[in-house]
Amino acid sequence: MTDPSARSGLRSWLSSNGRLEFCITLVSVTLLTGACVALTLMPRNAGPLQPATDEAEVLNTSAGVDDPRLSPVRRELQPYGPILVRTVTDGAAAEALLVAHPSHSTDLDVLEQQLGRAISDVSAVWGTDWNRAPVVVVASTPAEFTALTRSAGATGTDVAAVSLTGSYTPGTQPSDQRIVFNPDARRRVGDAGLATLLRHELTHLATRADTTDGAPLWMLEGFAEYVAQRDQRTTFSQIAPTLTTRLRAGALPTALVSDPDFTGVDAAYAYESAWSACAFLADRYGITALTTLYQRLATGPQSPATEDAAFTAVLGATRGEVLDGWRAWLRGRIA
Ligand SMILES: [Zn+2]
Repeated sequence: MTDPSARSGLRSWLSSNGRLEFCITLVSVTLLTGACVALTLMPRNAGPLQPATDEAEVLNTSAGVDDPRLSPVRRELQPYGPILVRTVTDGAAAEALLVAHPSHSTDLDVLEQQLGRAISDVSAVWGTDWNRAPVVVVASTPAEFTALTRSAGATGTDVAAVSLTGSYTPGTQPSDQRIVFNPDARRRVGDAGLATLLRHELTHLATRADTTDGAPLWMLEGFAEYVAQRDQRTTFSQIAPTLTTRLRAGALPTALVSDPDFTGVDAAYAYESAWSACAFLADRYGITALTTLYQRLATGPQSPATEDAAFTAVLGATRGEVLDGWRAWLRGRIA
């Protein structure tokens, strides 16, 4: 309840000396100032009728907006502006989602065109028992790329990464993975390179349920690159220019590349060398043997002894025989 004497006191205070007019003016100015501040703080592309939201505005799509996987992506992308969304179906139960900001719509065109075939290429080696409806995001800035891939441990120089957004239980099929492209990936590797990169990252995504952190990188990266490069119209020296140069100079590898080599100045050589080891294994022992070897070695960190045991069990060969065969195969590539 309001005290009647206080109400009449307020009325007489307002009516004397034009205080009512003053208060109305003050309230109007405050409201207008508030409206101006609110307009200034609104996202750049949001229209005045669009309610404030913590999710990025979707500009173009009639499909995919209701997909529950899109909501967390929109929330994370909200600070970076509106987005375009496309969907791709390749026969899997769900649709793949492709997301980018308008500045990267051409990247989206390339990825949309390539995704269905890339999923088939990965399935041709690994089988179809994986999440063939990925979420693919093109970051618009390095900061956005870093924000989206933090959990994957990607660095600012990576051209793409698979990012696991939720908790992950080894042995289970993760559904909350996404592939994130660096904003200048296409400029750096071209359209064909972007498709290769897509197959590489899709392979990491497909094999995730069978892969434990700490497994030897020559196997993890070599296999992803083998699947990415398989059956393409590319030559050995196009796929592995650094390795080719060294082979032509007479330097044959003495061992499989070790994990630290993948992050140092010699990273390009490490990827190429790992690719060539897997390409040799597939050529000599067959794709099934290569895939079985992956499944065995990707279970976690390996010692030379456990790796040797895997070579014997899966390939029926000693490490020495594998290395000798690989070197002979490499010599044949540059002959
Ligand atoms: Zn990789």
